[in-house]
Amino acid sequence: MIKEILAKADYSTLSVEEIAILLSAEGEDKALLFETAAHYKQQTVGSKVFLRGLIEYSNKCAKDCYYCGVRSSSTAYQRYTVSDEEVLEAVEYAYKHNFSSLVIQSGERHTVAFTNQVTRLLEKITRITNGEMGITLSMGEQKKEVYAAWRKAGATRYLLRIESSNRALFRKIHPDNKLHDFQTRVDALRLLKECDYQVGTGVMIGLPFQDIEILAADIDFMRKIDIDMCGMGPYIEHEDTPLYQYKHLLLPLQERLELSLKMVAVLRLVMKTINIAATTAMQTIDSNGREKAIRIGANVVMPNLTPLNYRENYYLYNNKVGVVDDVKRGLDSLTENIEATGSFIAYGEKGDAKHYRDRKNKDKH
Ligand code: SAH
Ligand code: SF4
Repeated sequence: MIKEILAKADYSTLSVEEIAILLSAEGEDKALLFETAAHYKQQTVGSKVFLRGLIEYSNKCAKDCYYCGVRSSSTAYQRYTVSDEEVLEAVEYAYKHNFSSLVIQSGERHTVAFTNQVTRLLEKITRITNGEMGITLSMGEQKKEVYAAWRKAGATRYLLRIESSNRALFRKIHPDNKLHDFQTRVDALRLLKECDYQVGTGVMIGLPFQDIEILAADIDFMRKIDIDMCGMGPYIEHEDTPLYQYKHLLLPLQERLELSLKMVAVLRLVMKTINIAATTAMQTIDSNGREKAIRIGANVVMPNLTPLNYRENYYLYNNKVGVVDDVKRGLDSLTENIEATGSFIAYGEKGDAKHYRDRKNKDKH
C-alpha cells in the first residue's frame, strides 16, 4: 500500500487517508518513505539550507497555554525582554556572518506599548541592515493593524503555529476562554496573508490525545491554508504545566521524534516548495535531530542568537537545548553536521519560500 502511494506522480493531492497511511509507516516502509522524501527534497528545494538567527525576544506572555513552560501562571522564571541594544548586537552578528534572515520570537502581548516597541525595533533593524535582512516574527495573535504596522516596518514573514488543527484537541491543551480561541487563531493566519506576509504555521507532535488521523488532518490543514512555511516539532512535557498530568499517555521521546520526522517527510511530499524548519525541539530529543530532519525534507535551521544571560528563562519545555551554547561553536558544528547530510548552508541568501513567490506570480496572472 505504501509503495503504491509513494509511486504516485503527484503527491500534492494525496488524500487524508493516504497521508495517515504514510504517517503510520514502520520498518522497511518507513525507510522507503524517508528515502523517497529525501530524493524528492533534492529535486524540489535542492540541498540548500537557509539560516535564520533566532532571537527569543521576551518571555512575558499574556497567555496561559497548558503545555508551555513560560505560560503567564508560571512563577518559575524571571521575566525578561531583551533590550534594543542587545537585539541590535545580535542582528549585527547575524548580518556580519551572512545569515541574511532573523526570527524574532516572543510571548504574546497586546499592549500598545509593546506593539509599538516592536515596530520601532523593526525599523532600527531595517535601517542598520539596509533592508537586506529577512525578518520573521513569531509573536502570536495580534490585530490586523498591528500585523500591518510590523509588515510596514520591515517584517516579511510570520510564524503562528496552529498547535493542533483539531478543535477538540486545541480546546484540551488551552484554557477555555476568549484569549485561547481556535477560530481566532485560524483567522489570524488569514489576516497575516491579507497583510502580505509569507505565512508559516505548524503543530506539536506527540501531544496527549493526539492520533495519526489528527496529524494527517494537520497536514491537510496546512495544505488548505496554503502556507509558505512550516515549523513543527515534538511536544516535550514541562513538569510545571497542567498538561504534565497526562504524561502517562505520551509516546517515548524517541518515538515522538520519529513521528515528527515522518510529519516532515510527508509534508515535504505534499507541499514541495514550502520552507520547512528543523526545530530546536527535535534537537532536544536527539543531538542529531535537526540533521535527520534536513535529510528527509527540512530546509531551514534557526541557530539561537539570544544573549546567553536570557536563555535559561525562555524555557518552553524540559531540557531545552542550547541554553548554554556558545554561538560560534554551535554554528561551526551545525555547518559540519549539515554538510555531512549532503546539504550546505546558503549563507547570504534570504531564502524566501519558493512557494510564496509562486503564489504571488499566480495572483498576478
Ligand atoms: N508566543 C508565541 C511564540 C512563542 S512560543 C506563540 O505561542 O505563538 C513558540 C512555540 O513553542 C509555540 O508555538 C509552541 O508550539 C512551542 N512550544 C511551547 N511549549 C512547548 C512544549 N512543551 N513542547 C514543544 N513545543 C512547545
Ligand atoms: Fe505564551 Fe506562546 Fe507559551 Fe502560549 S506557547 S504561553 S502564547 S509563549
